[in-house]
Amino acid sequence: MVQQYFEESHNILRQTARKFFEKEVIPYVNEWEDREEFPRSLYKKFGDAGFLGLGYPEELGGTPGDAFHMIAFTEELVRCGSVGFAAGIGSHGIALPPVLAMGTEEQKKRFVPPVIAGDKIAALAITEPDAGSDVARIRTRAVREGDRYRVNGSKIFITSGCRADFLTTAVRTGGEGYQGVSLLVIEAGTPGFGVAGKIRKMGWNASDTGELVFEDCRVPAANLLGQEGAGFYGIMENFQRERLSLAVIAHAVAQLAYEESLKYAQTRQAFGKPLTGFQVTRHKLVDMATRITIAREFNYRVAARMVAGENVTTEVSMAKNFACEVCDQAVYDAVQIHGGYGYAREYLVERLYRDSRILSIGGGTTEIMKEIISRTLKL
Ligand SMILES: Cc1cc2nc3c(=O)[nH]c(=O)nc-3n(C[C@H](O)[C@H](O)[C@H](O)COP(=O)(O)OP(=O)(O)OC[C@H]3O[C@@H](n4cnc5c(N)ncnc54)[C@H](O)[C@@H]3O)c2cc1C
Repeated sequence: MVQQYFEESHNILRQTARKFFEKEVIPYVNEWEDREEFPRSLYKKFGDAGFLGLGYPEELGGTPGDAFHMIAFTEELVRCGSVGFAAGIGSHGIALPPVLAMGTEEQKKRFVPPVIAGDKIAALAITEPDAGSDVARIRTRAVREGDRYRVNGSKIFITSGCRADFLTTAVRTGGEGYQGVSLLVIEAGTPGFGVAGKIRKMGWNASDTGELVFEDCRVPAANLLGQEGAGFYGIMENFQRERLSLAVIAHAVAQLAYEESLKYAQTRQAFGKPLTGFQVTRHKLVDMATRITIAREFNYRVAARMVAGENVTTEVSMAKNFACEVCDQAVYDAVQIHGGYGYAREYLVERLYRDSRILSIGGGTTEIMKEIISRTLKL
């Protein structure tokens, strides 16, 4: 029997999300991209609709759901046409899992419900000016002083960092290397915490990407997640879901680019016929559709294996790299098919071209994914 990944509840969620986005998101996306910000009220709207709590425990206010609910939701969200908006509204998706996996019951009750209700914004702060791929090299130092940690250091490129209410933050509590890394929840109002700036970017313009500083920032020791030195494991565990999610975003962006290109190629006339009248254009579209189908199917397969509890670290890395490569080619060809219009802001493919560039960098670069794969292949 052919395995079906999506059942009725997934399809209902997809339709509900689509209707909601048509009313609350799609009409405003261009404005948010231009303003480089979307209204904070969107979090509450998403929270009330149950979208922020998808897959989170019901006792914390969550909505039941599995990986395929998340995938259906993400695919629909990408169809809104702003990956920056998707990243901003979804920053809790990387900030909360370490709280769930490593936090005490008290920590979970304190941090999770307000975020999935849309009352508070959560972000994940790992990257530093001198430590990106090399996570084990982070230098933000947290020194225990009685019932508090004194935190000094800085973070960069933090999605939702400028307006997050709390940040799941990687800090160094011990010596050099990954064993010295811990995760500490830092609340935005804590004295000594500051937003140094909002980074202007090539794409993902609707999302805020913050540069943060901690100067003698005194954080309650009760905000430590798990044991001192256990942070690296939390970060690595989180990466699997984030990477799969980025792979799904990549195939969804590619699909959107393909659909926009097909519509355009069927109507745009050149030399007395539509662009689809040229074999070269048809073949471009065929290659796009073929590669997108394969990327999507592989992503679904890896998700299903993850749901079944298998270790898919290698396959997640393969899925991310493959889907990003497919996406890069798709958005390139989409702009090419649109000609000069593909370079104009009014055309969606122009944004998709910019928004997709970060997918092969964020959450672990293509090169880092290859290093992971090469270890499994024992190269
Ligand atoms: C829009 C945006 C949003 C982001 N959101 C977040 C967020 O919410 N939270 C967060 O913590 N971070 C976030 N990041 C940071 C992101 O995860 C890092 O940019 C990424 O991990 C790469 O780190 P880096 O930029 O320091 O590059 P580097 O690690 O300095 O890499 C530079 C180049 O060297 C290559 N390289 C590095 N090491 C190796 C190696 N061992 N072998 C081969 N090549 C290597 C890389 O692949 C890359 O090509 C975001 C970044 C952006 C741009």
